[in-house]
Amino acid sequence: MKRALTALTIALSLTLPLSAFAKNNVVVVATGGTIAGAGANSTNSATYTAAKVPVDALINAVPQVQELANVRGVQALQIASESITDKELLNLARQVNDLAKKPDVNGIVITHGTDTLEETAFFLNLVVHTDKPIVVVGSMRPGTALSADGPLNLYSAVALAAAESAKGKGVMVLMNDSIFAARDVTKTINVHTNAFASQWGELGSVVEAKPYWFRSSVKRFNNNSEFNIESIKGDTLPLVGIVYGSDNMLPQSYLALQQAGAKAIIHAGTGNGSVANYIVPTLTKLQAEGVQIVRASRVPQGLVLRNAEQPDDKYGWVVAHDLNPQKARLLTALALTKTKDAKEIQRMFYEY
Ligand code: GLU
Repeated sequence: MKRALTALTIALSLTLPLSAFAKNNVVVVATGGTIAGAGANSTNSATYTAAKVPVDALINAVPQVQELANVRGVQALQIASESITDKELLNLARQVNDLAKKPDVNGIVITHGTDTLEETAFFLNLVVHTDKPIVVVGSMRPGTALSADGPLNLYSAVALAAAESAKGKGVMVLMNDSIFAARDVTKTINVHTNAFASQWGELGSVVEAKPYWFRSSVKRFNNNSEFNIESIKGDTLPLVGIVYGSDNMLPQSYLALQQAGAKAIIHAGTGNGSVANYIVPTLTKLQAEGVQIVRASRVPQGLVLRNAEQPDDKYGWVVAHDLNPQKARLLTALALTKTKDAKEIQRMFYEY
């Protein structure tokens, strides 16, 4: 019997490629957030300090990840994600890009605060050229809390980053068993573990370390993107600000951004990106003075339609399509590294 088993093992090892036995190499790039947070005691699910636990402790707290892949950690940042500026974002994108180019790296997991997780994921989706899986993951409860969600999120994120089926899917966000496309995922609630959603649905789910796929994104990303972190110099992007729409708006909110040097302003308008009649003259004046106006919406679902609420062709404005204001800010900033032409910028909004 033992002999027969040995013969079978030898026969199998002759017919299967070596890669069938080798584990993929996954790098966990830690940036801070709640997933690296710590509270005073186990009942503190909302009162805690983010960005405390170093990457090696995060990985060691989930030893099961080593069964999925050869996992090593890199501490890129240790901050709460609301404090991320262009400087940290560009720096992180360069680190991820360098890792993705290494032949011995098969997948990358980025642990991140949930507050601006969607921005980082979208930015990497636009500027890192690779087909290797890049998975951004966070948690809503610190590791010290009862029913902490970080350990399983990290385990599933490593499984996804190590999966052959996750190649070429664009940068993904893994939260609460769901796999989302970076471009349309957003944080929708600030207290529950099912905090992330996309109006177009999830790409798939990870169950017991296996990804199950249901959709794919039809938009441009990674290898198919015209933006590339390697051709962006310095540690700032063209300045783009956001003004939140409501009743009783002030022209000064837009003018202050122009004074601060903004090259574009995202109008996070009401409804279909609508603009109050008494604000229109300010926005047309800004456009004439070279500040690109982009109409987005404060409504979390739907898409802003060109020339519907406002004559965008006449004014030279751009609509953000289905991108939320914070993602519109990043795409506009990247667009402005290439062009000032409103038609070109509009094309980019439709393609990404
Ligand atoms: N505000 C912190 C951050 O975004 C903690 C929130 C979280 O990670 O859930 O990093």
